[in-house]
Amino acid sequence: MAHLRHRKLVRECCTGSVSKNEPARIRPDEELSRRMSRRARKDTAPELALRHELHRRGLRYRVQVKVPGNNRRTIDVAFTRAKVAVFVDGCFWHGCPNHHVQPLANSEWWQWKVESNRARDRDTDRLLRDAGWSVVRAWEHQDPSVVAGQVETLVHSKIAAPTEPTDKRTATQRITSRKVTEHKQLSSGDSLPSGE
Ligand SMILES: [Zn+2]
Repeated sequence: MAHLRHRKLVRECCTGSVSKNEPARIRPDEELSRRMSRRARKDTAPELALRHELHRRGLRYRVQVKVPGNNRRTIDVAFTRAKVAVFVDGCFWHGCPNHHVQPLANSEWWQWKVESNRARDRDTDRLLRDAGWSVVRAWEHQDPSVVAGQVETLVHSKIAAPTEPTDKRTATQRITSRKVTEHKQLSSGDSLPSGE
């Protein structure tokens, strides 16, 4: 029931915040929030590693390009000519199935936060697809060379045939790889809710 209501909200507010039914948060969580926020701003290492790998392969991209239809959101790594958007999702903030561990204190709030992040991701993907972009999502724990290889293939295929949409190319591609780099718990590519 809550899930259905959530999806309805997502559909109704494409340009604003994705979810409005934020559970109450109790004071003691503030310190944890501050710690997470600091990590969120600092830890862009997985994204930098991917960018380095893409650059090494001769690919040129832009960073922090605005999402069409929502100026408050940005694409992590954007190939504007090929219209390929790449996101490196933080394992904690985006609920990685392998690494997300929910804090014990205020667990309801944290669950809500991660779910609303994921809903926002889906909404971002939809906005991009509607504007003709292909979306690639990688987890921060994934091997940057594996991710870069898949991005390279997609970018080249879209430049070669930009007007040939297929289901495979327009659906969000979640990178799948068995090779996992060393995991850093609670690192992130997102910001805390204060700004969103
Ligand atoms: Zn992970």
